[in-house]
Amino acid sequence: MKTNFKKWVLEYDPVANQQLYAGVEKSASEECNCSDCKNFLKMRDKIYPKEILDLYFMMGIDPNKEIYLTHTARKEPGLHYYTGAHISNGSFSTCNNDLLSKIRKFIGLPQKIKYKEITTTFLMLISSPVVLPLASTIKVQRDKIFQIEFFVLVPWVLESEAEPTYG
Ligand SMILES: [Zn+2]
Repeated sequence: MKTNFKKWVLEYDPVANQQLYAGVEKSASEECNCSDCKNFLKMRDKIYPKEILDLYFMMGIDPNKEIYLTHTARKEPGLHYYTGAHISNGSFSTCNNDLLSKIRKFIGLPQKIKYKEITTTFLMLISSPVVLPLASTIKVQRDKIFQIEFFVLVPWVLESEAEPTYG
């Protein structure tokens, strides 16, 4: 299937993605026992914008099986940045109307890594090759997938554990 989303053109097989995610036993935040991940997990069903959930549904991606997650920084007391990612089979390109990106490519400049703002608290970035560590249960060829990274603000809601103070 081919889908235009924001500045990207995505090509993927939703059935193959469903199979891929069925093979992921636990998400990154469920694999880990630290308080940062527990906090993310507690908020997970509230942090993905509807636009992203609709896209993931269409692509066969299970939003509750993020394959990578890390606490990035504390923005302010009670509010934290996390970075995480999902993967998809297939490939992507940036839209033809992304002229600046085309020019940079043409003159040999590195492509600027630019997150796309989906909401004021949720940014995303699509890239390849996938360099993130993948669980052994994920049976994919790295050159046949791409990654969808997200950068999201999450409130600290764990009452039993103190929030990290760095960042
Ligand atoms: Zn953790």
